[in-house]
Amino acid sequence: MPLTDIELGLTEEEKSIRDVTHRFAEEVLRPAGRALDRLPDPAQVIAPDSILWEVFEKYHALEISRLATDNEMDPVAKARLMAIVNEELSWGDVGLAISLGLCSFHIPWIEQSGVPELIERYCSPDRPTIGCWALTEPDHGSDTVGLTEPHFHDPSIKANCVARKDGDDYVISGQKAAWVSNGSIADMIVLFCTVDQNQGFAGGGAFLVPSDLPGVVRPKPLDKIGQRSLNQGEIFFEDVRVPASYMVVGPEFYSLALETMLAHANAAMGQLFVGVARAALEHAIAYSKERIQGGKPIAEHQSVKARLF
Ligand SMILES: Cc1cc2nc3c(=O)[nH]c(=O)nc-3n(C[C@H](O)[C@H](O)[C@H](O)COP(=O)(O)OP(=O)(O)OC[C@H]3O[C@@H](n4cnc5c(N)ncnc54)[C@H](O)[C@@H]3O)c2cc1C
Repeated sequence: MPLTDIELGLTEEEKSIRDVTHRFAEEVLRPAGRALDRLPDPAQVIAPDSILWEVFEKYHALEISRLATDNEMDPVAKARLMAIVNEELSWGDVGLAISLGLCSFHIPWIEQSGVPELIERYCSPDRPTIGCWALTEPDHGSDTVGLTEPHFHDPSIKANCVARKDGDDYVISGQKAAWVSNGSIADMIVLFCTVDQNQGFAGGGAFLVPSDLPGVVRPKPLDKIGQRSLNQGEIFFEDVRVPASYMVVGPEFYSLALETMLAHANAAMGQLFVGVARAALEHAIAYSKERIQGGKPIAEHQSVKARLF
């Protein structure tokens, strides 16, 4: 049992999934994350010869990659397993954990759409595709998520990305933020954008936008000082035309859909960064035993000991 393993009530199945995930995190994610972190150009992280694709392939070979989209599992059992898996993956590398976690983000939305050609192309477990959630905008970060704030309903605050109805289609124009995780590599973009500008951000909708549609432009991945293994990149929509059936949520239920997504995303972030904190503590403890100062390991000095144990 690792030093920081304080959860004593796990079932045998949970322990076994935790151990498989931990092994994957240790043997695949940790070294890959380190290698990707050292690449000078974020374009190299997603280049065809990048180790990133090997990580995706190995992840998709594991049962845990299908956990988030398992509709048969008891919801409480699934929520517990998701927490365990998220924590272990991010213990290995949080950038990759976020990227892998978002891989199947589009699947439930596509299933909800019931559009056969999308289900056929994007939901087959034999041909995994990559999803992303494009919500925030260059001029609007918190603005797009503050659904309990008065500004959320303020039509004078103008969105950067808008969809307008045109016959049987929607035409999407504008831009999403450079912070969209998997933004440059996603096959399917789950786009949350403004539909009814009279309602401000509350008048949004959720769209399924295949990233190879004409007018979807993704110039370059974001260059960051941290989490370099997590691809992020801006997405431009230059009058992208999608059938009305690709809109899965309209303004009527937009706030509810957003709130539901935020509940999931925020819980996942908490779980992921517990894994990061655990990894940091383990590193610190190991170093404190190895580093000798004043003739003994620093772990034996009172103030270091008090902070670590
Ligand atoms: C690692 C990472 C992954 C991400 N992944 C995605 C993704 O997959 N998809 C996506 O769409 N976006 C993504 N984002 C963007 C993320 O959702 C935004 O960073 C977040 O919503 C905050 O927006 P902002 O960075 O523009 O900060 P701002 O909104 O500019 O906020 C700056 C500061 O002001 C405060 N503030 C803002 N508004 C208010 C207010 N009304 N009242 C009080 N305080 C306020 C904030 O709390 C914050 O401290 C990601 C970001 C990161 C860092």
